[in-house]
Amino acid sequence: MKIKTKLTLGVGLLFILIILLSIVGARYIYALKSDTENILVANYNTLEYSRNMLLALEDGSEKALHKFETNLQYQEKNITEIGENEATIEVRNNFEDYKLNKNDSTVPGEIRKEIFKLMDLNMQAIQRKSEVASVTANKAVLWIGITGTLCFIIAFILLVNLPSNIANPIKELTESIKQIAAKNYSERVHFESHSEFGQLAKSFNTMAEKLEEYNNSNLAKLMMEKKRIETLINNMQDPVIGLDENLEVIFANEVAVKIIGLSQTDIIGHHAQELAVKNDLVRTLIQDLMTGEVENSTKPKPIKIYADNKEGYFERETLHISITPTGEQAKLLIGHVIILRNVTEYKELDFAKTNFIATVSHEFKTPISSIKMSLQLLQNEQIGNLNDEQKNLVDSIKDDANRLLKITGELLNMTQVESGNIQLSILPSDPKEILLYAVNATKTQAEQKQIQLEINCPEKVSKIQADNEKTTWVLINLITNAIRYSYDNSIIFLTIQETANTILFSVKDTGQGISPQYKDKIFDRYFRVPGTKKEGTGLGLAISKEFIEAQGGQIIVDSEFGAGSTFTLTLNKVG
Ligand code: ADP
Repeated sequence: MKIKTKLTLGVGLLFILIILLSIVGARYIYALKSDTENILVANYNTLEYSRNMLLALEDGSEKALHKFETNLQYQEKNITEIGENEATIEVRNNFEDYKLNKNDSTVPGEIRKEIFKLMDLNMQAIQRKSEVASVTANKAVLWIGITGTLCFIIAFILLVNLPSNIANPIKELTESIKQIAAKNYSERVHFESHSEFGQLAKSFNTMAEKLEEYNNSNLAKLMMEKKRIETLINNMQDPVIGLDENLEVIFANEVAVKIIGLSQTDIIGHHAQELAVKNDLVRTLIQDLMTGEVENSTKPKPIKIYADNKEGYFERETLHISITPTGEQAKLLIGHVIILRNVTEYKELDFAKTNFIATVSHEFKTPISSIKMSLQLLQNEQIGNLNDEQKNLVDSIKDDANRLLKITGELLNMTQVESGNIQLSILPSDPKEILLYAVNATKTQAEQKQIQLEINCPEKVSKIQADNEKTTWVLINLITNAIRYSYDNSIIFLTIQETANTILFSVKDTGQGISPQYKDKIFDRYFRVPGTKKEGTGLGLAISKEFIEAQGGQIIVDSEFGAGSTFTLTLNKVG
């Protein structure tokens, strides 16, 4: 049965029963009212008239007889019982006789007898009628009771059944909707009645079935895609490790597993921090993730990894994966991917190149030195005089030999830097001494361009913790650059400054300067500002940076294009 019909029937039945109860109640109350009214009007009044007539007869006066007459007339109009009429007529006849002959003593007796008869008749009638009223009252109680009980039973049945009839399916439906919302698409509802809920259940089950179907088809597709991506990652030659936002490993391809040296089950599902405790490589790989360094502008050095009985070099790249959830604006970090690019081959080639350069530069040094010695001998007048043309030729060969020696020196230093074998001998050194040595070495070059080297240095300077030879080399390189990239007749300012823990050397020129976009690049190996006309290798500043940083110092440049540059190097003081 439909809920609407059920409700209509239930409430309708109650309504009818209430009306029925009201009708039965009203009907019996009316019956009781007319019964009592009947007694009052028909019989009580006759008793009253009879009593008045008896009292008037007793009195016997004219006034009393008049009162008798009045009451008798009332009685004559109030004949209600069988035999009452006859008795009243008898009273009337006897009263008429009495009025004619008041001395006849038998008449009042007759009148009294008839009045008593009248009273008796009405008393009996009252008794009979009150019995009828009592029967009516009993009937009223009975019928009202029956109708009331019926109402109560029906109301009770409705009270017990109707709310649960409506609420139970709603409750079941709510539970099922919650299950569907929790992606449990196999959930169904089971109230298969013919009511509206039955139809609702049917529609709900159809919807759940379709959702399940859709979900399963999507799941299969997703599983397929997942497998495809997993296979792809597994077949990659480079190690790839995926971490979720909490740094728990979600995937690691076969190469990654091999180089880490743990089994797949020991890695996947474990927290990276937990793995880092027992594995050095994992510790190195997650270093920047642990420190929270999201972006690092300097390229990290290749990591040397020993796996599969051979040494390999890998460049690490950490990608931070973020998505914008549907309907939201802000990006959400969902994980990280660590890719290790195998650069062993390039590294091996690089080693070969460095070795080659080192060998060649080294081999060049001896012949160049002997060329220089021979040139010195040639210039010696004791051996023989050279004509002007020959002198010029010797000078130019000397210049070239010096340049060649500088280049081989730079290349040799570069091989030290590239192989990571910078040999340092750090000792307490006098900064002033270093600067003066560098100035001496570059003096002739400056003089050639009429450039003045102006030194600004405090009387007493603290010693620095530095490699004397390498720091001097760096300063010579900076001053040489300043001379090369400055105009003739200019001044180069060489300053030493002392701070709490460091000594600052600065080389300031008023030359062509460096445009801002190249300021960071000039420290890269083999980089030369495009358009630089002066000869050079582009190695000087790169080597300088490595030498100074290896000593725990710092080298920076401040330059205004067209106005000049200031190179500052900072080194730690002793103690
Ligand atoms: P190079 O052998 O070319 O001088 P460096 O590494 O010493 O190599 O310098 C790299 C580049 O930086 C130079 O080619 C030059 O363009 C620029 N540079 C270096 N020092 C200065 C300077 N004092 N003023 C202007 N440009 C400079």
